[in-house]
Amino acid sequence: MYYVPDGTTRCGYYECADCGTRFLDVRIAPTLVCPYCGEAPDLEIGPDDEMPEVRESAKLVQMLEGEEVEQYDTLLSLAVTGGDYSWI
Ligand SMILES: [Zn+2]
Repeated sequence: MYYVPDGTTRCGYYECADCGTRFLDVRIAPTLVCPYCGEAPDLEIGPDDEMPEVRESAKLVQMLEGEEVEQYDTLLSLAVTGGDYSWI
């Protein structure tokens, strides 16, 4: 597994509206902060600081369950790694 831990039986398939990256995440939500172009929340802000605006530009395309998780994980990770099958 490339995007989610081995044994994951349910995850979300997301596509980022900003950078076009497709990825899987075990977090299921209508939108997520893109792990590739999104800004992570700054956890060191003080109590008087305003919350930084977080752009949740990655949108849930569909839910994956069971064997779909491994199939999509393999397909997407091959696309990322350039389709090199030699390591399988
Ligand atoms: Zn993105």
